[in-house]
Amino acid sequence: MGHAEAAVRAMADRRDFYVPTDALGDIDWLSDLTVDRADVPGTNHVIRSAIAVDGSHVVHRIRDGMPSVVYGFAQAAAAYVDLAVMRDQRAERFPDPVAIQKAVNSALISADLPVAGAYTRPGVDIKTSWRELVNEIFRTKLVQVNGINESLEQLLYRLRGTPQVVATTILVNCPSCDTQDIPVSIGGSVCTNADCGVDLYATDALRIYESAVEDGDNVTALGRLRSVIELLVLTGLATLLWQQSRTDHLAHTLFIMDGPLAMYGEPAKLRGWAEDYFQEMNRLTPGPGPFVCGVEKSGSMVDFGETLARNELLRPGQLLVCDERVIRRVLNTPNPESYGKETYWGRKFIYRCLDGRTVVVTVPADSRAAYDSRGGQPGPEGYSTLPAILDVIDATGSTMYRNGIIPVAAAHGHAAFPIGVGTDVLRLVASQRLGF
Ligand SMILES: [Zn+2]
Repeated sequence: MGHAEAAVRAMADRRDFYVPTDALGDIDWLSDLTVDRADVPGTNHVIRSAIAVDGSHVVHRIRDGMPSVVYGFAQAAAAYVDLAVMRDQRAERFPDPVAIQKAVNSALISADLPVAGAYTRPGVDIKTSWRELVNEIFRTKLVQVNGINESLEQLLYRLRGTPQVVATTILVNCPSCDTQDIPVSIGGSVCTNADCGVDLYATDALRIYESAVEDGDNVTALGRLRSVIELLVLTGLATLLWQQSRTDHLAHTLFIMDGPLAMYGEPAKLRGWAEDYFQEMNRLTPGPGPFVCGVEKSGSMVDFGETLARNELLRPGQLLVCDERVIRRVLNTPNPESYGKETYWGRKFIYRCLDGRTVVVTVPADSRAAYDSRGGQPGPEGYSTLPAILDVIDATGSTMYRNGIIPVAAAHGHAAFPIGVGTDVLRLVASQRLGF
């Protein structure tokens, strides 16, 4: 087993398979899709600060001799970064870590729960246990920053509504009797089917419990929970700036999500909620903003971008528009025109930074869907925040991570678990909470 990796590599070497990002082949058509930085249409606007949101999650087998008992922990952090300090530091040959640290403020939300082999109470299955735990987390965990003090549940109703009007109900399908579209108010409701009558929670709409299994570590379900929490942290912070400083702070702040602007798996319907919510915020903002993007440091789009960069097909300061042809090429899909419509609430662009790094950004469209069943809007027209976002990406390059940027690195520093320490702490928390 010690040589497993070498063995798998050797097996892979003997097989023929197709890696789309390896083979460049005929790429003349790509030149139609590259845009020089100066020619990207949109608002050229100075961003003064960035707020990056990142999270992490971990599961651990916490009971000696009972490996089926698994405990989980998830957290999301937001880091505020003063870009004026970053721009000054960029002029220095050796950036001062203390100056960078002082430019960063962070806030954190975390949740812990038994994810398998342990239940909320006797006589409930794992799915019910998960439903009750996620409901409790959403009721009790607060996003607290100056001027905002809302539970995750309140933020979920906010995201379902508009920046002006919080939704009063969220539609839920009953997990017990399958009655569809039951309106659930904040605080919970009861199934409308008189023969059923189980308690329903707004968080049932996330459907995270559906993938929970008795035997397993349920790490995927925990990851879905974490990505929803990250989106709600973003929603809370953006709404705060929109409410309190629409023409000033909102117009000069870039929100950066670590990873693409996407919602995978069971809670995917939040993709549409997020797209509608932030486009409505854009419509209700007199000047430019909100500025929101996702940054990917790895994945097939990043690999493709780096292959282009190595071959000087994408030069520093150039943006690649990812239309159907690029999607067909990179993702090897026969159906590229409908790619992404169930997952992403922004459009992907590959950008080669002025210093040579390759970054894949996801940017929300000003209006209408970024991806739909007919190819969506490849851009760059229709993404007026793009030039300002590229400015920040250029100004905040980080050598801490391959193709990273400093705001995300800062948020990550607060949201990540140090290997070793993290799992020991988790064992301790679990022993106290579960009384082991
Ligand atoms: Zn029911």
